[in-house]
Amino acid sequence: AQAGWVRGLGAVRRRSRPIRVGRVTVGGDAPVAVQSMTNTDTCDVAATVAQVRALEAAGADIVRISVPSMEAAEAFGRIRREVEVPLVADIHFDYRIALRVAELGADCLRINPGNIGREERVRAVIAAARERGIPIRIGVNAGSLEKELLARYGEPTAEALVESALRHVAILERHDFPDFKVSLKASDVPMTVAAYRMLARRIEQPLHLGITEAGGLLPGAVKSAVGLGMLLAEGIGDTLRVSLAADPVEEVRVGYEILKSLGLRARGVNLIACPTCSRQRFDVIGVTRELERRLADVREPIDVAVIGCVVNGPGEARIAEVGVTGGEPNLLYVQGRPAGKVDDEALVDAVERAVRERLARRG
Ligand code: SF4
Repeated sequence: AQAGWVRGLGAVRRRSRPIRVGRVTVGGDAPVAVQSMTNTDTCDVAATVAQVRALEAAGADIVRISVPSMEAAEAFGRIRREVEVPLVADIHFDYRIALRVAELGADCLRINPGNIGREERVRAVIAAARERGIPIRIGVNAGSLEKELLARYGEPTAEALVESALRHVAILERHDFPDFKVSLKASDVPMTVAAYRMLARRIEQPLHLGITEAGGLLPGAVKSAVGLGMLLAEGIGDTLRVSLAADPVEEVRVGYEILKSLGLRARGVNLIACPTCSRQRFDVIGVTRELERRLADVREPIDVAVIGCVVNGPGEARIAEVGVTGGEPNLLYVQGRPAGKVDDEALVDAVERAVRERLARRG
């Protein structure tokens, strides 16, 4: 899952204390891990396994599953046996569920220590995590801030989010348990960014980035790209989840697009396509859409340029590994060199063939 990533803005990255979530390292020098979360009924093992596999195929490094009951905990155990990707069990309040999923092979527990209850329960959950080498994710959310903090701050604020997180952090530190990561999510982008900036200076643990309840695919992707992009460009963030009211596979795609645009990771086809105008000599939008569909299975990074005319075409095609430029005739480029004329009808096939040949040569 870590193949094909590149360091882009890594030189300015905040140096966090790495943790292991199953086979995936989060923090330190590790690539920013992409996460998503299932939205099936966890007790429906077949449906959840299918969704976890779809997320893994889309590139998810880690998948979170909510475990709201003991029945769901047992289902989590069956799901765990069926899939390879590291799984985070998302638990609220009930420490017995945390203990059970730890036994059943959870790779990380998302549980807020301040919400577990009595001291012996907190101690039992931390002991189970320590014994099995499982990290804990503290997840603070503006929608579920402690009443007393809300009363004091009047409303959710960046300071209130950070104060809430630090309370949970203090409990883990009191138990000498440093293997955790923290998220501080709000649906308000400036508040989320301010909160992560503050917390980044207060703790050394990895930060899990996200804008919560960001909305549907387009507004959610934009909010996430702005908020997460600001933080990642400052070197803050070790793993991310894009929260969308959409198919979770889209969350993984958007997560990669954010990381690809910053040069932090590379995965699959990077399609460079012009926005089109009346100069276009073939249907750029249709060809782009069809190539996206046909090349969705490609995992290795490769730049492919689809440019409608000779204004920008040759320049873009020359720096992409495979490119096509509209004209009389349309020209295919491979490794920056002209590789033949192509009719409109044959464009998609020709580009797909050239991409697969390049990938086969790389081995
Ligand atoms: Fe228009 Fe050509 Fe630019 Fe595409 S590359 S937007 S067709 S001028």
